[in-house]
Amino acid sequence: MMNTKHIFDEQQAMMMALDISGNHVMCLDLQQNRVFDLHGKAMFGNNVGIEVCYTYIHPDDCEGFRTFIRRLSDGTDKEAECRYRWDYNYTGKGEPDWHDMHTYAIAEYEDGKPVNIIATLTDETETKRKEREVEQVSERYRTIFENSIIGLSFYTPDGWLIDSNRIMRKICNFDSEDGDEFFSKANLFDMSPFNEVLSREHPDDYWACSLSIVPERNMHVYLEISVHPIYDDNGKLMYICVSANDVTEERNMYLQVKENDVQMQQVNEAIKNYEAELRYMMDFLQMQAWRISLDRDVIEFYSGLNTVVRSFGLQQLQKIFVDQENKFVKSLSMSTIKETLRKPLVYVGQMYPVVTQSSKELQWVQINCIPEYDKNGRLLGAFGVWRNINDLMRKQDQLRKETLRAKESGEKKALFLANMTHEIRTPINAIVGFSEILVSLPSSEEKQEVMQIIKNNCDMLLRLMNDILTASSLESGHMSIEPVEVDFSKSFNELCESLSLRVQEPGVEFRKDNPCDTLRIKIDADRVSQVITNFVTNAVKYTHQGYIKVGYRKETGVVDGRQREGLYVYCEDTGEGVSPEAQGKIFERFYKVNDFVQGTGLGLSICKAFADACHGQIGVVSEGKGKGSVFWMWIPV
Ligand code: ADP
Repeated sequence: MMNTKHIFDEQQAMMMALDISGNHVMCLDLQQNRVFDLHGKAMFGNNVGIEVCYTYIHPDDCEGFRTFIRRLSDGTDKEAECRYRWDYNYTGKGEPDWHDMHTYAIAEYEDGKPVNIIATLTDETETKRKEREVEQVSERYRTIFENSIIGLSFYTPDGWLIDSNRIMRKICNFDSEDGDEFFSKANLFDMSPFNEVLSREHPDDYWACSLSIVPERNMHVYLEISVHPIYDDNGKLMYICVSANDVTEERNMYLQVKENDVQMQQVNEAIKNYEAELRYMMDFLQMQAWRISLDRDVIEFYSGLNTVVRSFGLQQLQKIFVDQENKFVKSLSMSTIKETLRKPLVYVGQMYPVVTQSSKELQWVQINCIPEYDKNGRLLGAFGVWRNINDLMRKQDQLRKETLRAKESGEKKALFLANMTHEIRTPINAIVGFSEILVSLPSSEEKQEVMQIIKNNCDMLLRLMNDILTASSLESGHMSIEPVEVDFSKSFNELCESLSLRVQEPGVEFRKDNPCDTLRIKIDADRVSQVITNFVTNAVKYTHQGYIKVGYRKETGVVDGRQREGLYVYCEDTGEGVSPEAQGKIFERFYKVNDFVQGTGLGLSICKAFADACHGQIGVVSEGKGKGSVFWMWIPV
């Protein structure tokens, strides 16, 4: 009894176990080829022909299932298992409802022949679905891991490599997904730099960016590495995750950018210096850069390279440029401006100040202009520099005048030489000629007369020589003045006596104006006499009717802003007179109004040199041609 109960309990327990695990047990009677339930309720009904079963099996799995049954039926297999899909939709209408089934079967033998096949059927659909889900999830994570944009490796808690993703394999120079001999044998805790920073017992997060060199793998890269140990909820270390990012290129780029920055800075510095130099140079040369933009209808003036100091509309140019008669160029329309700008040009002319408006006066400018076109050949405007050339023009003008003067002076000198030959030859001829006939003259009166002629010519020659010597000593910038005290009234009287002899023309009267009986003053009397003689000699040459009057008086004058006592001498004649134009020039050397009249053009210039050397003044007063003239000199005494 005890035994029977035990067997019953055991069967009961087995039934319960089969129920809990959702298993059916079936039997295939091989003699009748029919199927019936041993435990549970099979899905396709009890006691049906095996052929009916086959219709519920997925066509792809049917062949396998038949083989599985056949091998058990013919004794090939004593036990076997089979997996197949089973259609739970027994109606045969609509879509099939496939379930994953697992059947484990054993053959029951009688007299050495299989008579029944006992099989358990387990519906694995749910388990399979979960398996598939897990598989999909892990595949997804695997893909993410494999295709991550940074290198990832997982290590066991004791530091052995489990897996590396594609980027990590690339960084570490190994191709195979199955790992690398070097890295699978290298322990994380032994590798530099982890050997120094990671604790084997309880590794912490670690981050570094450094040059990583692994000669065995031909690795030489700058890496940003981080180590992240993964602990479970109980604080047990599960994996160590190592991520690596190859920053070699970024680093090179950074270095390049840095180098570029330095270069840029140097270039900026150079530009700044260049601009400062340019600005200094342009200021020094009174130059300024300018630019015209036709689109914006503006002209801009710069100080340096890009600081606009003044700008205005192009129509304003009419109010700046002037034509030859210093009138504003009203015709400067937009179309003429455009036409002018088409070609490079250098303009020199006058205009009103545009940038510095300190003065309103016209200024000379030189403008260099370079046209600016776009790539389609459309005129955009022009740019260039303009320069104030007032100084240059002034100097040029001065130079022109001086050249003219030098030319005139050269011409005058040549004329002087020609005159001189004539001037010297005339008295010499007279002296030589009359000396020759002197001895042959019978009467002493005739001899007396000829001797007087010889004497006059000697005087003339002497005076000429004196003038030339004085003029050449003046040429070397030297005139000696030797004032001594004299009675000027007396010496004036004596001088007039000899001068009166020179006035020989019948219609000309010699007049003397001596206001003092005595006049004691300190002067260079010889020089003053020379001046008066020159005045009178000239007057004799140019006066043919009327009188020649010489005189003097005491007169105060101004020297260097101070009042001074002085002597005024003059020679008044009723001769040819001097035209206003000639008045300014007759005191220059070699100047003669009429080249055909006897004379060298030296006399008056010597007189002027004397007056200047004494800080005095000299001049002529004449109302013009035929009106006579007064030559005068004032010197301080
Ligand atoms: P020159 O030896 O030729 O007379 P000067 O220097 O003495 O040289 O005179 C310069 C010029 O001034 C003369 O050539 C003459 O044309 C003019 N001149 C000088 N004195 C008189 C005068 N009294 N009346 C008219 N012209 C004069």
